[in-house]
Amino acid sequence: MSRRITSLLAIAAVCVAVAPAPASAQVPKEPIDCSQVKCIALTFDDGPGKYAGTLLDTLKKNGAKATFFLEGQYVKSRPSYVKRMVAEGHELGNHSYSHPDFTKSEAGTIKSEIQKTQDAVKKAAGVEPKLLRPPYGLADLQVSDIAAEFGMPMILWTAGSQDWSSKNVKAIQKQTLAVAKPNGIILMHDWVKQTVDGMPSLIKTLKNKGYHLVTVSDVIKSQNLEPGDIYPVPEGWEK
Ligand SMILES: [Zn+2]
Repeated sequence: MSRRITSLLAIAAVCVAVAPAPASAQVPKEPIDCSQVKCIALTFDDGPGKYAGTLLDTLKKNGAKATFFLEGQYVKSRPSYVKRMVAEGHELGNHSYSHPDFTKSEAGTIKSEIQKTQDAVKKAAGVEPKLLRPPYGLADLQVSDIAAEFGMPMILWTAGSQDWSSKNVKAIQKQTLAVAKPNGIILMHDWVKQTVDGMPSLIKTLKNKGYHLVTVSDVIKSQNLEPGDIYPVPEGWEK
């Protein structure tokens, strides 16, 4: 009896040894070089939004990365999403604590808005954002100096999905595909349900067009931005 069990175990061991490695055990992919392949960075502002969990599921299922410009007050109320974002390889940026217009704010307010969000993200996920997106994409030289103090470049967007205004799945997809371009940075929101609802099909279409969905840091690598720099540089910006 014991002999029979032993030989069965031996057979089982052989079967395990010759079974092909499952897909998930493949060697990790090389980092993506956006100067060589077509890249695009989807960015989600003002979150973590209500639908961040569904969005994260979709991104994970499709092997897509995104960048989340987080608002500190929601980091505080939805910390588990922030933790997931980091664990699943997404990039985090700072989008203030309560979304004031920085160009109409005192230096002290701007600094505390940024610091409180850094602290909230650190508490939620153990990391600190390295990119700043000022609320409404509005900055001036004072904001730039403060961003520099925090060691962060300011990241705007090359185009928007207009999701917050259309709130329509088809319109969001159409607009995003119309403005998609290599190394583009697309503004979206994970509090807009229609954005999250349309994401599986949008990702599929972008991939069919040859895009790799990557983080902002991947697409700006060749820009060599310094803290306090702004990208893309808005019209009329002087430094
Ligand atoms: Zn915003």
